[in-house]
Amino acid sequence: MDKDIKNVIILGAGPSGLALAYELIKSNKGFKPIIIEKLCVVGGLSRTVYFDNLGLDIGGHRLYTQDKYIQSIWNNFLPVQNLPSIDDEIAKREVKYPKGDLDPNLVDDVMLLRNRFSSIVYNSKFFDYPLKINFKSLSNLGFKTTVLAGFSYIKSMFSKREEKSLEDFLINRFGQVLYNIFFKDYTKKVWGVDASILSSEWGHQRIRKLSLFKTVLNALFSKILFFKKDHSLIDNFSYPKFGCSQLWNKMAEYITNNGGEIVLNSEFCEFNVNNNKIISLKYKKDNKIQEISASFFVSSIPIKDLIKGVDAPYDIKQKALNLPYRDYILAGFYLDDFKLEEKTNYKTVNNKTKDCWIYLQEPDAIAARIQFMNNWSPYLVGDCSKNYLVSLEYYANKGDDFWNLTDEKIIEIAKKEAQKYNLFDEKNVLKTFLIREENAYPSYFGTYENIEDIRGFLNSIDNLYLIGRNGQHKYNNMDEAMISGINVAREIINNGK
Ligand SMILES: Cc1cc2nc3c(=O)[nH]c(=O)nc-3n(C[C@H](O)[C@H](O)[C@H](O)COP(=O)(O)OP(=O)(O)OC[C@H]3O[C@@H](n4cnc5c(N)ncnc54)[C@H](O)[C@@H]3O)c2cc1C
Repeated sequence: MDKDIKNVIILGAGPSGLALAYELIKSNKGFKPIIIEKLCVVGGLSRTVYFDNLGLDIGGHRLYTQDKYIQSIWNNFLPVQNLPSIDDEIAKREVKYPKGDLDPNLVDDVMLLRNRFSSIVYNSKFFDYPLKINFKSLSNLGFKTTVLAGFSYIKSMFSKREEKSLEDFLINRFGQVLYNIFFKDYTKKVWGVDASILSSEWGHQRIRKLSLFKTVLNALFSKILFFKKDHSLIDNFSYPKFGCSQLWNKMAEYITNNGGEIVLNSEFCEFNVNNNKIISLKYKKDNKIQEISASFFVSSIPIKDLIKGVDAPYDIKQKALNLPYRDYILAGFYLDDFKLEEKTNYKTVNNKTKDCWIYLQEPDAIAARIQFMNNWSPYLVGDCSKNYLVSLEYYANKGDDFWNLTDEKIIEIAKKEAQKYNLFDEKNVLKTFLIREENAYPSYFGTYENIEDIRGFLNSIDNLYLIGRNGQHKYNNMDEAMISGINVAREIINNGK
């Protein structure tokens, strides 16, 4: 190895690993990032899965950040559109974009600006999400429930629970009645365990200062007041013309064109450690074990998989191996008609719903969310004037009854649910897709209570760094994952820990 080039090995080519490699290269300080990636593509959980000219994210990924540096990276690779998208034109929608001449109908490398519309279905009725305090919401809830919800919210303001669990956290902010309606069953569906078992830390990290008060404030005054939006309350977002993978592929291209390396189809095996310092790493590619040495090692892969290749004390190893995750299944449908119509004055193509996501709060629905890709990018759905790309999203644990169903059976269940919620009929289905993704959500229960011990041990290895969502076992968004990678890059550039 050339003495002036310092290898930095990064496990995982998701947003965090790519951001770290990008930052090292940009520093021009002689670092060579080498990314070891299990899959045959980059992007990790944020990748787009393509089926010919159609594309589906592993759950639609909206790009939104308050971090200017991250925003500038996104827009350097994919500048923002200045002229209307094809769906704006078909729907004859007046939309204001930044001034310029970048036309998404003519240029491929472009970031779309999208409106973030979502709904919640509860009791067969549609509520706006985030909650809007308007006639529709109140009449959907009914007078009695509204009054009861109001009283229980007031009670929660004066009599606070000790916040041990997510249930305590949510009841303190929304009251028992709204918790029962909007959070109790949905949380169980997403996480597979009761909110009373989940740590309140998830609420603190994800919902932070969001409360009924702030939700109401947002609903009433968002156009007047310039208060900073919580991630859950944003009303627009960026989205690459051809899905999130377009951005990750651009970053990967920059990395490999500028001296970095991305080794695909390669799975981490183990570290070779000497005197608390990693000397080299073994990975498996094409059924052959390869070894590579470096000055620094960074991991964004699930801690439960990393720990298998680390010589750790018995109790740490057991706790790390048992860290909980939630797995994810997407049942996708390519359609020639979609029945959900838009009921407001907002203009849409063929008057279909303006929603990107529809959350299913119905206790008997197995799917958690409906995703309408036409509203993410009209360039990912074939002919957006007559075709629709829709998916139903399910949560499961690998090996449980739902996960073990065949792909065909899950598609069948999803079709039945789609008919039940009047989304489409069997005759409208042109193609179906099934995507399974393990470790989609790092969970906050079980041995998660030992996470600081586990991270503490791994961080005590001199030249090992943990980044990203599963790398840190932290429910991060893409921007937060990227920031964690960039911070570690800067630490490495400044001579490490
Ligand atoms: C359904 C869903 C919806 C989401 N929606 C949004 C959203 O709207 N907006 C948003 O900002 N974020 C969203 N996220 C979060 C986003 O996906 C993550 O924050 C982001 O992908 C984390 O990036 P990462 O680099 O930390 O990890 P990952 O994306 O998990 O990347 C890790 C990489 O490591 C690789 N790997 C794993 N094991 C090994 C191994 N043993 N050897 C080598 N490589 C390995 C994986 O293949 C993967 O490529 C969503 C997530 C999900 C699941």
